[in-house]
Amino acid sequence: MRAVCFDLDGTLGGYAGDFNAFLALLRAELMLYACDMNSFAGLVREELARDGALTLERVLERVLGRLDQRPTAELPGLVDAALGAYAEEVRAAPGASAMLQRLERAGVPLALVSNGPVDMQRTALRALGFERYFRAVLISGDPDVAARKPAARIFSLACVALEASPQEVLMAGDNLEADIRGALDYGLEAVFVGADAEAARLGVPAVGGLEPLDALLRERYGL
Ligand SMILES: [Mg+2]
Repeated sequence: MRAVCFDLDGTLGGYAGDFNAFLALLRAELMLYACDMNSFAGLVREELARDGALTLERVLERVLGRLDQRPTAELPGLVDAALGAYAEEVRAAPGASAMLQRLERAGVPLALVSNGPVDMQRTALRALGFERYFRAVLISGDPDVAARKPAARIFSLACVALEASPQEVLMAGDNLEADIRGALDYGLEAVFVGADAEAARLGVPAVGGLEPLDALLRERYGL
């Protein structure tokens, strides 16, 4: 192994606040009182999971469109405020910082491979202070990426950026379908971050957190 790809949300860190409260704030700011909270949350979650170039603003425009509402002129400002509120509640997973620092010292090229709107994921990465560790940051909503894990394209872009062939790259993530199956299908090796017997069925090791992951990277993969 020469290089590692990491998932962001649920692996290196993520939103530690109440995501439903975050959605409730968005609904209030958009004054969508006629749309009940469950329907609004469902629409936002669907739009957050869409393929192609994506920003939080685009997500909310599409939600408004589906509710037959016209986008308000305040939308860009509202999105900036929402991203700020989101960033305040983003936390690193225990051991993330120490592991990334060690890999940096060891000279291991790293890529971040994340699904989501480009502005939200970039904001989260900046809030964590992890940007500097990555040679490449591949976010599905970035117009230059426009592909969600498990699509081959996003793993292909990561390998190119890491200047490594797929067999030389290890993917670590907490989603069996997107991270693990996607990586394996493209020829990478993978480690599942989580306690799931399914990982064994896919023939990949599972670790309960980033400290055991760091140990595995050192001992099993020589990284
Ligand atoms: Mg994840």
